[in-house]
Amino acid sequence: MSDCLFCRIAAKEIPADLVYEDQQAIAFRDIHPQAPTHVLIIPRRHVSGLDAAGEAEEALLGHLAQVAARLAEQEGLAESGYRVVLNNGPDAGQAVAHLHLHLLGGRKMTWPPG
Ligand code: 5GP
Ligand code: ZN
Repeated sequence: MSDCLFCRIAAKEIPADLVYEDQQAIAFRDIHPQAPTHVLIIPRRHVSGLDAAGEAEEALLGHLAQVAARLAEQEGLAESGYRVVLNNGPDAGQAVAHLHLHLLGGRKMTWPPG
């Protein structure tokens, strides 16, 4: 999707601080970090959000979660812990309509989220 910000980042048309990429996924640092580590993990292929993910995306969702865990380890968060967030829709504050996981860590988090 040429008008999708994250598709354009995945296509390297818009620069981002990339931390990981493979055939299915790409990860880069959030432009407005909410924690010392704040990485976004996205599929290369456009999927607008969790509610648009069907059976065909089951393996992809698992892969994104696994990449998040691997990156958390790389960022030194395995022991201290981290949070993985997937916002879907307006009440959750989803601002970019391209599926993404937030990997947040490096500070103590509160629960429930605001
Ligand atoms: P959402 O609110 O949709 O779950 O999260 C979207 C995230 O994308 C936000 O945390 C926002 O800071 C981040 N973001 C928005 N535009 C850009 C951009 O151009 N580059 C990067 N690296 N992150 C962005
Ligand atoms: Zn997209």
